[in-house]
Amino acid sequence: MTRTELAGQVCLVTGGARGIGLAIARELCSRGADVAIVDVLDPDAAVRTLQEQGIRAAGWQADVRDRGQVRHCVDGVVGRFGRIDVLVNNAGTCGRIDLEHMDDATWERDIATNLTGTFLFTQAAIYPHMKAQGSGRIVNISSVSGIMGGLDASGESGGRSGPAYAASKGGIIAFTRWVAKEVGTLGITSNTVAPGAVATPMTDKMDYPLGGQAIKRMGRPEDIAAAVAYLAGPGTSFVTGETLKVCGGAAIG
Ligand code: NAD
Repeated sequence: MTRTELAGQVCLVTGGARGIGLAIARELCSRGADVAIVDVLDPDAAVRTLQEQGIRAAGWQADVRDRGQVRHCVDGVVGRFGRIDVLVNNAGTCGRIDLEHMDDATWERDIATNLTGTFLFTQAAIYPHMKAQGSGRIVNISSVSGIMGGLDASGESGGRSGPAYAASKGGIIAFTRWVAKEVGTLGITSNTVAPGAVATPMTDKMDYPLGGQAIKRMGRPEDIAAAVAYLAGPGTSFVTGETLKVCGGAAIG
């Protein structure tokens, strides 16, 4: 079945060169969207695989922590595709260091990439573009670490994230809610997807404890992509300020 619910929509996915971001880009394309990928890595290979399937896709190599580069990307997407309907703030880093050993550089990198990057892209996409359109969807990728304080909060060992990561991901949830309240009257929604442990290059070689999960497997990037597409789709225009956990029941409570 060919899905078309995002036909004519322009989506920007940060951190889209690999992992969850690439799966999100593929999923949005499979529903008819045009997609722009932004990544600090060269996004060309990812963009080419989409273009080979006849999709209108483009890539920008940029650092989400840099205000000038962020503005350049967002304006570039609008210049190329004419609009920006969906922003997915997915780029992220995770310093797996506990509080005792946390250093300033790792702390600042995770906060700047995960939280400041989300702020910069959201601001640049809404003001002026989504505001002028009178519509838009912001979907931010947090983590159950931002809710539970770490993926091993079940008490099992292994699978640690880190305090900077947890703080940045919790900050994303609060930021998302703030934005939802500020832009609701502009026709824009703002929601968060909070994944549990997902098999990607970020978690490569990690031994995740699955005992605390109801569903005893690692998540797949496609599991997260489906949730993002749901929040970007036509059925969720009345959903805003929410956090959708996609974690196999790791954070049921
Ligand atoms: P990944 O490392 O495979 O992908 C992250 C992408 O972000 C990479 O392509 C990387 O180059 C890009 N990136 C990093 N810093 C950047 C920067 N400064 N500017 C632009 N791009 C940058 O990781 P992933 O597992 O696919 O993670 C994607 C998102 O999902 C992240 O926000 C991560 O925190 C979140 N998440 C992942 C898991 C998991 O278990 N994998 C769990 C919860 C949340």
